Amino acid sequence: MVPDSKPVAQTHACDEPSAFQDALVGWFRREGQSYPWRETTDPYAILVSEFMLQQTQIATVLNRGYYQRWLNQFPDFAALAEATEDDVLRAWEGLGYYRRARNLHRLAQVVVADHGGSMPETLEDILALPGIGRYTAGAVLSFAHDQSVPLVDGNVLRVFARLFDYPHEVDQTEGQKQMWSWAETLVPPAHARHYNAGLMELGQRICLQKQPLCQECPVSRFCRTRRPEELPRKTKRRSTVFLDEHVLFLLEGDRLLLVQENGRRRQGLWKLPECSQDGREKLALLYKAKYSITHHRVTLHVYGGPGRSGVEGSWVSLAEVPALAMASPYRKAVDQLLSDAGDFQLNS
Ligand code: SF4
Repeated sequence: MVPDSKPVAQTHACDEPSAFQDALVGWFRREGQSYPWRETTDPYAILVSEFMLQQTQIATVLNRGYYQRWLNQFPDFAALAEATEDDVLRAWEGLGYYRRARNLHRLAQVVVADHGGSMPETLEDILALPGIGRYTAGAVLSFAHDQSVPLVDGNVLRVFARLFDYPHEVDQTEGQKQMWSWAETLVPPAHARHYNAGLMELGQRICLQKQPLCQECPVSRFCRTRRPEELPRKTKRRSTVFLDEHVLFLLEGDRLLLVQENGRRRQGLWKLPECSQDGREKLALLYKAKYSITHHRVTLHVYGGPGRSGVEGSWVSLAEVPALAMASPYRKAVDQLLSDAGDFQLNS
C-alpha cells in the first residue's frame, strides 16, 4: 500500500548506480519468480517467450500450455522455419495478435538462411532481424548471454517514471528517450540478466499500477515520487469503437463453407464468410457473441438457413476444420454451431 505521505528519496539512482543495482539484484535473487524461460539460456526459447508475452499475460502463456506446446512442436529455429504458415498460425491460435506468430516464423527463416540457424549475438545483428525491436533485442542478449544491454518495457517504464518522478508523458518521443537513457545508465556491466529480470519483476509484483507496494519495495530509498499512483503519465487512449460483424454458417453434408482472411491483422486465418444485408433479413440468427480487439468492441452475428447461392469460399471437410487456424471468436462460434448441428441430427 502507498502510505498517506510516502517518503521521498533524496538519493538519485543514477548517482549511486552500484547501490541501486545491488539492491535490485539481491532482491530478485531472493524473491524472483521461476518461469521456464528463466531456467534456460537458449536464445530461441527466450525469444519465443518474449513474442508470446508481448500482448498476452504470463498466466495464459504458461497455464494453458502454449509455451511448452510450441517448443514441443517447433523446438528450434530450423523446425519453425520449415513449418507451414497454417501450422504456425494453428499453434498460435487462442493467443491473438497473429502478426507476432507470422513475424516469429519469418524471423526463424532469416536466422536459418543468414545465420546458420543460430541467433546472432550482437545488438546490431539482432536489431536487423524482422519483428525485433530494441526491447526484445535487450531481452535476448541479457537473458540468454548476460550481456550488459538495457531494456524498457511497460513495467520498467512505470518503475522509472516513479523512481525519477518523471512528470511528462512517457509514450512521447522525449519520454521514450529519457526512459532509455536511464536504462542505459543503470544497466550493470555484470549480472545484467538478473538486473533486467528484477526490474521487470519489480513492475509486475511490487510497483503495481493501481496500488504500488512501496513498503515492500527493495529500491524505495531511491524513489523520488510522492504520488506514485499518478504516474506514469500517458497520452489519452483512443476511445472505444463499437462494430458489428455479420457472417454465415453454411453446412452441406460434412462440409463447411469458409474463407481465408486477407486483412493485415488476421491474414491467413480462416473464418466464416460474410453475410449480405439481404441474407441478414432472410436468414435465421443462429449465434451471437461479443469480443474485444484493441479498442474495438465487436458483436459477432452468425446466420444460417436456406438461400445460400452466390456466396464465395472454400468447402472444407469437417474432419479438416480443427486443423485450420482460426481466430478465437470464430473457433468458438464454429465449435458451438457444429455441436448444435450434431445434436440436431441426433435428435431428428
Ligand atoms: S519504485 Fe514503485 S513500489 Fe518502489 S517505492 Fe517507488 S513507487 Fe513505490
